[in-house]
Amino acid sequence: MPNFQPENAVYRFAPSPNGFLHLGHALSAFLNHDMAKENGGRFLLRIEDIDRTRCTPQFEEMIYRDLRWLGLDWETPVRRQSEHFDAYRDALDRLRDMGLVYPAFLTRGEVKTRVTAYEAGEENWPRDPDGSPLYPDDDRRRNELERADLIAKDIRHAWRLDVTKAMAWVGKPLSWRETGTGHSETITADPAIWGDVILSRSDAPSSYHLSVVVDDALQGITHVVRGKDLYAATAIHRLLQKLLGLPEPVYHHHRLILGSDGRKLSKSEGSTGIAALREDGLVPADIRRIVGL
Ligand code: GLU
Repeated sequence: MPNFQPENAVYRFAPSPNGFLHLGHALSAFLNHDMAKENGGRFLLRIEDIDRTRCTPQFEEMIYRDLRWLGLDWETPVRRQSEHFDAYRDALDRLRDMGLVYPAFLTRGEVKTRVTAYEAGEENWPRDPDGSPLYPDDDRRRNELERADLIAKDIRHAWRLDVTKAMAWVGKPLSWRETGTGHSETITADPAIWGDVILSRSDAPSSYHLSVVVDDALQGITHVVRGKDLYAATAIHRLLQKLLGLPEPVYHHHRLILGSDGRKLSKSEGSTGIAALREDGLVPADIRRIVGL
């Protein structure tokens, strides 16, 4: 279990520059910043831009502008994930050497066709906590010869974690320390609910799960404070940390700010965007009040 002196605490806000920051991001950023200040700890900003098709320098600039306007300050240089693909590749190589990842050749379209055909019957295909279908087991069952043959034929592939094998490697149940409810609780982690998660794609050398755990460790993050939408993902993060021998942070999953339709805010929703609210004449104290701080 993690054990830190408050003054050694390191917090981070880790947005992706693929849209405008909204009130949900403001809550996350404020909480990380305020908790770091209260404890005399550090506050880091990390730019999670591994998706090179959706992330842009303009959105990154807007993140800095919005956060500065909100009155936050952070340490520099800022870690930008797109500059550290080597670190994620090394982590993937280690998992490959441990025999815990496999090349996955099914395209998204092929998975969809399979799921649709299956669901035409009585039963639903199993889904992960985000509602995506679990990856079929065809590629996990292949032997090494078949895998090598398909790779030699240059068939595009991703790399997936064999979660069952990985859990067997760990050999005991996983958990994490959660403080999101206001007191410290031990939560049992069940990574199997995600199926064999993707760790690298043919068009992106790292996935969110892999880069987030590598970076949290490299940056010495002791407290991960983020929205409840990432609560279930923590099970995968704990598994990867265990496999890679990385330290365990404390997790604090905070409430989400919901839109008027009761749904999670999205980055395309202009009216709750920080920039739009600024242009409407609101001041940072208004934003703090609106997000309930
Ligand atoms: N980059 C993620 C997001 O923008 C947050 C990752 C995290 O806090 O672990 O939703």
